[in-house]
Amino acid sequence: MSTAPVHQAVIEKVRARDLSWNFIIPFTIVHLGCFAAVWTGVSWQTLTAAVVLYSLRMFGITAGYHRLYSHRSYHIPSKALRCVMWFLATSSAQRHVRWWASHHRHHHRHSDTNHDLHAPGVVGTLWAHMGWQYHATAAAWDDRSLRDFNKAFPELRTIDRFAWASPLVLVGLCTALWGAEGAAVAFCWSTVANWHVTFTINSLNHVWGTRQFDTPDTSKNNLLLALLSFGEGWHNNHHAFQSSCRQGHTWWQIDLTWMILKVGERLGLVTKMRNPPARAMAAWGKS
Ligand SMILES: [Zn+2]
Ligand SMILES: [Zn+2]
Repeated sequence: MSTAPVHQAVIEKVRARDLSWNFIIPFTIVHLGCFAAVWTGVSWQTLTAAVVLYSLRMFGITAGYHRLYSHRSYHIPSKALRCVMWFLATSSAQRHVRWWASHHRHHHRHSDTNHDLHAPGVVGTLWAHMGWQYHATAAAWDDRSLRDFNKAFPELRTIDRFAWASPLVLVGLCTALWGAEGAAVAFCWSTVANWHVTFTINSLNHVWGTRQFDTPDTSKNNLLLALLSFGEGWHNNHHAFQSSCRQGHTWWQIDLTWMILKVGERLGLVTKMRNPPARAMAAWGKS
């Protein structure tokens, strides 16, 4: 991945139609698919399924893509269980784990600078939200930033090549269970919600909220985004202490992902959960 300033080059690429069709085509189809509910109708079964699929996959995004793979802030010793987490994450149609983690590590290295692909202060909020994924540069990813993956997650070498299939399996299941309504409501509605809530962490969470820690970026803490994203909205906390599995630091900073992982730890399914350092907790008046 180039380390040259990207935002101007990116805009030029889009103007030159150097686009990432692998993103644009499914992204557009799934958005349009939501409107099929006008013809199929909405039943309580498919609506419930949409809520369940949103929740399972939001957990997969934050506990999988982000806290397990990108930051290795905890561990899942069981390879089979890691494969389940991989499926939950990749079924949200946010490309393979290596792509997600590579881009995320790049964001932390270059937050809010010209090198950051989705810095709202540099490229604008809408561009930071989703525009950056439209161009070919975003489709690339940097294997060099993932040298630890082979040892930590050896199964990824095999399964991550099939990440494209995870959402197809899910939409197939929804269609088999509830027909076209299942595809439109259970799959498309929940997928679009998963996408845009994830994207708000890149866009609004660097614009809207409060700051507790004086990080060299514009990250903010935001309760609403934290509730919608199962804890990711405590983004200023996260930028300050990136290797911590716990992103909500106080009782009122609800971090659903951390709470669920704590249950997993009690059950012996999850290990090595990293906490924020004592000075982080002291900053909130705790010790
Ligand atoms: Zn950020
Ligand atoms: Zn992060």
